[in-house]
Amino acid sequence: MEFDTITAISTPVGEGAISIVRLSGEEAIAITNRLFQGKDLTKVDSHTLHYGKMMDPKTDTVLDEVIVSIMRAPKTFTCEDVVEINCHGGLVAVQRVLQLVLDEGVRLAEPGEFTKRAFLNGRIDLSQAEAVMDVIQSKTNEAMNVALGQLDGKLSQLIHKLRQELIETIAHVEVNIDYPEYDDVEEMSHEMMEEKTSYVKDEIEKLLQVAKQGKILREGIKTAIVGRPNVGKSSLMNSLVQEEKAIVTDIPGTTRDVIEEYVNVRGIPLQLIDTAGIRETEDIVEKIGVERSHKILQEADLVLFMLNYNEALLEDDRKIFDMLQDMNYIVIVNKTDLEQRLNMEEIHQLAKGQVLTTSLVHDEGVDQLENALSDIFFQGNIMVENNMVVSNARHIQLLNQAQKTLEDARNALQMQLPLDMVQIDVTRTWELLGEIVGDTASESLIDQLFSQFCLGK
Ligand code: GDP
Repeated sequence: MEFDTITAISTPVGEGAISIVRLSGEEAIAITNRLFQGKDLTKVDSHTLHYGKMMDPKTDTVLDEVIVSIMRAPKTFTCEDVVEINCHGGLVAVQRVLQLVLDEGVRLAEPGEFTKRAFLNGRIDLSQAEAVMDVIQSKTNEAMNVALGQLDGKLSQLIHKLRQELIETIAHVEVNIDYPEYDDVEEMSHEMMEEKTSYVKDEIEKLLQVAKQGKILREGIKTAIVGRPNVGKSSLMNSLVQEEKAIVTDIPGTTRDVIEEYVNVRGIPLQLIDTAGIRETEDIVEKIGVERSHKILQEADLVLFMLNYNEALLEDDRKIFDMLQDMNYIVIVNKTDLEQRLNMEEIHQLAKGQVLTTSLVHDEGVDQLENALSDIFFQGNIMVENNMVVSNARHIQLLNQAQKTLEDARNALQMQLPLDMVQIDVTRTWELLGEIVGDTASESLIDQLFSQFCLGK
């Protein structure tokens, strides 16, 4: 396929030592060469760097001193000729150079278009392209490792293998049906088909099992801090945020001024929910806000329930314990530096989860809490290092669907339905898996996925 030449600024907006204008396409080198003074870029070797000046041909003035890298197709990110012009950092230089390139008739790239080219030119598949985005957006090292594994093609390889397995089965049944006279092709039996599909079924199951952890790595564990006013919720939040010198992202919410904050606890991102509610304690002085807690708890993957060592348990606290029954939670008894008024025995009886004690004013107990948080995440012996964690919501959804259609196929086998009927579900499974790597993905889906990228990628 031939595409037009595109360009964009590929480094973030802001001041830095260098900024990069990237071009991709057939004209990339020729056009850069027209604007470049120093040597003839059309004659240089591929994958080399060249020092020179970017000149404005209209005024014959120097716009910036640059280093240009020349990378010829096909061994480039997009599989096309790629030029990267390393300009001086800051907005002005790079904007001027971009404008110069645009004036030469190069088109400004859409978000994600460079990566889309890599996909359309067959260098990477869809799951790898999505991994590029995940790498950019990773919030912790672990999440980044998962994304890198996917970029490496590990998921793709497995999916291709599973699809191969299925297509062989489908083909076998087809041959049996279309060419019954071929004696040398063994007749596919229900048992054989069951055996063939069971490997695929097992592998899909395994992927889905770890997918949950992958999703957590990507999106964070949705964590709610609940407890009566003044128990120390804000203090806990602050200490989690500060202790870890966390990557804190403030994403202004759509409703009110809800701020969602991520804290990074031992590499696991916690997404603290309803942090705004925690801050505005004045209006609920007497009430624990059972109703509000109820709402927050519905959203949470994990609850940190705080109690005051210095106060006896109230009815409202017991109500919260009831609500927490089937949830993942940790009880935190704070203010242990003060006189004991809380019956700890009762707490241990009420709490099915762990009970920890802290004195946040003295910074005590936070370490233990962090240990407990990381234990919760890793208790399933999740091998994050093995890089086979599926973390992308789209992939998980497709795997779930594939699992279901394969299950339908296997039920049909159990019921001894004719193989050509079973085959319909097997084929559907094959298609669904294909959507993960983009073999059977529709054009609109592809457009939508790539438009989520940042500009210049
Ligand atoms: P929230 O209303 O639950 O968010 O509670 P805050 O975090 O605002 O804390 C309420 C008050 O308790 C503040 O004055 C804190 O300094 C204090 N506080 C928090 N943790 C402790 C602790 O461990 N010991 C003592 N003595 N005071 C604490």
